[in-house]
Amino acid sequence: MKALVYHGPGQRSWDEVPDPVIEQPTDVVVRIETATICGSDLHILKGDVPETTPGTILGHEAVGTVIEKGAAVSTLAVGDRVLLSCITSCGRCRFCKETRYGLCVGGGGWIFGHLIDGMQAEYARVPFADTSVFKVPPELTDEQVLFLSDILPTAYEVGVLNGGVQPGDTVATVGAGPVGLAAVLTAQLYSSAQIIALDLSDARLEKAREFGANVTINNGSENALTRVMELTGMLGADVVIEAVGVPATFELCTELVRPGGRVANVGVHGHSAALHLEKLWSRDVTITTGLVDTFSVPQLLKLVAGGQLDTTPFITHRFPLSETMLGYDAFAAASETHALKVVLEGEPVAAERAPDKDLAFIG
Ligand SMILES: [Zn+2]
Ligand SMILES: [Zn+2]
Repeated sequence: MKALVYHGPGQRSWDEVPDPVIEQPTDVVVRIETATICGSDLHILKGDVPETTPGTILGHEAVGTVIEKGAAVSTLAVGDRVLLSCITSCGRCRFCKETRYGLCVGGGGWIFGHLIDGMQAEYARVPFADTSVFKVPPELTDEQVLFLSDILPTAYEVGVLNGGVQPGDTVATVGAGPVGLAAVLTAQLYSSAQIIALDLSDARLEKAREFGANVTINNGSENALTRVMELTGMLGADVVIEAVGVPATFELCTELVRPGGRVANVGVHGHSAALHLEKLWSRDVTITTGLVDTFSVPQLLKLVAGGQLDTTPFITHRFPLSETMLGYDAFAAASETHALKVVLEGEPVAAERAPDKDLAFIG
């Protein structure tokens, strides 16, 4: 089969590799029909994730069909269409039993496209299939559910839920990339009074308004602290969600939060950030961190099915899976292409092929 293979920092290629096979009785093999590229894939390509070894197939977000299953798999059948989660759950360890799958110590957690081969490929082996994948309701398209693999549950669980967003809150999201926008979208499930989106890119801030932000602040050209204070009766935001992952944005979040408020860090950090306890010690501020668990995926699927959550506006580009290399080029040059999510479309099964399906670049 063909797959997008990481060959060390800065190096990727679309290679012919062996087809995946069942290795454990709890595995399934899935034919990938729709996949996407994540900021974490770019982190790996930059060399920021040393545990990912050259030769690994990247990708941890996809929808596909089960084509083969191990003898111990009991809840899935060949032919089932499944959403593959970025998080794998062994289902047995103490953290999985607490629904904290991201912390799995039984061989799961974030392993796809990280510690084992991922999903930017024609086929993928999926370990712990019974406890890790989600069947897709037949009425939903791949594109409607694809971003429930990662960015939606990440923003919702690690941002909105960890941040304890309540009706009437002012929520500030620092960073309006895909995850920050997903936080803007899912914060609205709690009827926030106002959502303030901050970013350095006016194009992304325009997207944030489309996704439901009431106020946008370009913190490259405006004083974010002054603006947020003006918007909150000089108190600060009830909840501040960090969705960038650099020291300056984390430190900004701790300035924007009101006394008694919450800072929910979602960003992936590569460097230490200052925690200004000399200012924060008396302010009763809660700071949370976390990796997504994906326990909320069934809830998010119901919201999509019920028409309450539309994630398709994240799609800015589409490429055939065979053009994954071009998809990466577009995604990595987001400042010029304004890419948010790039959909990689696998070869449809002949019988399902739409007569004039347009796979063209739509950016
Ligand atoms: Zn991801
Ligand atoms: Zn586990």
